[in-house]
Amino acid sequence: MPQFSNAFACIQCGKVYRGGATLKRHQRYECGKAPEYSCKVGNCSYKSKYKFTLRNHMIAKHGVIMTKPDTPYK
Ligand SMILES: [Zn+2]
Ligand SMILES: [Zn+2]
Repeated sequence: MPQFSNAFACIQCGKVYRGGATLKRHQRYECGKAPEYSCKVGNCSYKSKYKFTLRNHMIAKHGVIMTKPDTPYK
């Protein structure tokens, strides 16, 4: 069992979060949603729901730093 004093479990997928706000963010943005960002280096099949996670992956795995965002900002 988790030792967190404030553990919140997602009723959809069972992921446990320490804070209610984090769980809400998960349910709103993550849970049940397909990853939007995919790694385009070589034949890598890594996908992420967050741009910064993909960015970290690319730096850690490929040594690539994304300079341009996938989707242009307005
Ligand atoms: Zn969930
Ligand atoms: Zn990759």
